[in-house]
Formats: sequence, structure tokens, C-alpha cells
Amino acid sequence: MTGRIHSIESFGTVDGPGIRFVVFLQGCPLRCPFCHNPDTWDPKASVQYEWTPEQLLEEVLRYRNYIRNGGVTCSGGEPLMQAAFVSEFFRLCQSKGIHTALDTSGAIQDYTPLEYTDLVLLDIKPGQKDLSYLDHLETVGKPTWIRHVVLPGKTDLTELGRTVDRYSSVEKIELLPYHTMAVSKYRALNIPYPLEGVPALSEEELMRAKLSIKSNTSKELL
Ligand code: SF4
Repeated sequence: MTGRIHSIESFGTVDGPGIRFVVFLQGCPLRCPFCHNPDTWDPKASVQYEWTPEQLLEEVLRYRNYIRNGGVTCSGGEPLMQAAFVSEFFRLCQSKGIHTALDTSGAIQDYTPLEYTDLVLLDIKPGQKDLSYLDHLETVGKPTWIRHVVLPGKTDLTELGRTVDRYSSVEKIELLPYHTMAVSKYRALNIPYPLEGVPALSEEELMRAKLSIKSNTSKELL
């Protein structure tokens, strides 16, 4: 079994606790208009690495001292498109005492890697109604951090705050401000930019979103 790996970040600081070795898996079934990684969408696109779980672990172990207080994160793309690979990679990581985090939208109902996942970073999209993956995480008691991209004009997060408050498995919420840094990637890929003309979220709007969610949840805000 090999994984199709778009790219690797060996000193990630924004995808889970501590310093992390982040693996961006190729392929995603969603087309979020604010996506800043459109180059990870096509599962058949050329990739930087095609490795077995063992080869990927070997690479991780080179950085072991740096990620001692962090771990590994599988992101994407959508890592659940390669769930069997992620599962085996996480199993190997845990056998070496390395913390594992899965950064997913939960759009694919595949729970295979959860057995070897210490933490799930679950992206909830603006306006998303289907929370069945979160329901499952709650059922199995998996520690979860919610991530949510805040778009300009969508800073009322009352509903999201109230919703996640009902889930005891949710430990933290992270709000990610929408930015326009991916525009050039879309141009290079010849894909029309879906949010053309929408400005990046301002500091003030981010603050408003934080206040809105804070007053509707008891969860820690990252
Ligand atoms: S789930 Fe993530 S990778 Fe997939 S389209 Fe949405 S933002 Fe992009």
C-alpha cells in the first residue's frame, strides 16, 4: 500500500498541538469556495511522494526530536480519501509513541483511522448542516477540535457555538480568517476563483466572530 502525498511540512505549528510533522494527502471530493489548496483536489494529479506507511514513518523519525511535544498530522486535501493508508501510518506512529492528529472535513464517512487517532481536527463549513461525523466522534468519545473558516459578512456564529457546546468530545474551537492568498494558485490551475472580489476577513470582523462564538459556547477558543 502506498499513499499519494501532495507535500510535507516538517515543522508545522498550526495543525494541532505543539510542533508537528504535517502530511498533506492528495485528493478531496469537496470544492469549498474558500479552499486555499485547490492543487490537492485531483486525486490523480502528480504528487511529491508516493510512499508506503513505513517509508513515511522513516521520514517522520528523522524529525523525532523536534516533534517530541507535538506529533504528526494528516491533512489535505481530504485524508479520508486514503483512509487505509492513514490508518496504518497512524498505527505505526503510535507504536513509536508519536501523537497523531487527523485534519478532516468528515465528508467521507470512513472511521477506519480513528482507532489510531489521538485527536481529530474537524472542519465545519459555513452553513453546514450534516454533522454526522461529529456525531460519531461523540459516540466514540474522540477528543476533537473544531475548525471553522470565517467569511466576511458571516461573523454571527451563534448557531455554531450553541451546536458544538452540546458535544462533550469537543475540546476547543479554532476560527480561521478567510484570506485571499490562494488566488494565484487558482490562476495557475486555470480554475475560476469562486470568491472573486471578496476581501480577506478584517481583524475587526474576526474579533466580532470570536465574541459571537464565545458568548454561545463554554468551549475554549484557540
Ligand atoms: S475540504 Fe479542505 S481541501 Fe477540500 S475543498 Fe474544502 S478546504 Fe479544500
